[in-house]
Amino acid sequence: MTSSDPIVEALGAAGYRLTGPRRAVAGLIAEYDGHFTAAELEIAARERRLGVSRATLFRALELLTELHVVERLDLPSGEHAYVPCVREHHHHLVCSRCGRVADVEDGALADAVAEIARRSGYRIESHRLELFGLCRHCQAKAGPSA
Ligand SMILES: [Zn+2]
Ligand SMILES: [Zn+2]
Ligand SMILES: [Zn+2]
Repeated sequence: MTSSDPIVEALGAAGYRLTGPRRAVAGLIAEYDGHFTAAELEIAARERRLGVSRATLFRALELLTELHVVERLDLPSGEHAYVPCVREHHHHLVCSRCGRVADVEDGALADAVAEIARRSGYRIESHRLELFGLCRHCQAKAGPSA
């Protein structure tokens, strides 16, 4: 693992010590390309005999979520998953088949939010949006849909 790991950097920037378990959890997360669940992380930690307890794992995940390097996703299945993330405001495109996650910026959505604020009279402070569908890769595998 290198010091350019965004999770390791975020922990340092927020003044957290890079303890063994935190380093282990950061290392596990760095291997995911898409989303992962706490249960998957737990299995991976056990398989590698990292000696990270379930409670430690959950605490580390919670901390990383607070630091916005990991974000919680609510999947259409009702499951909770996590994605490695960046602090800047953005949204996620999530593939419902393979779990690949892509980041998208607000773009025209910012205009839509401004319009909603104008019409409703609310001062909108934040919003969340997650988009689910099939990534290019899974569409290709499924063949042209009828
Ligand atoms: Zn993200
Ligand atoms: Zn996919
Ligand atoms: Zn947005």
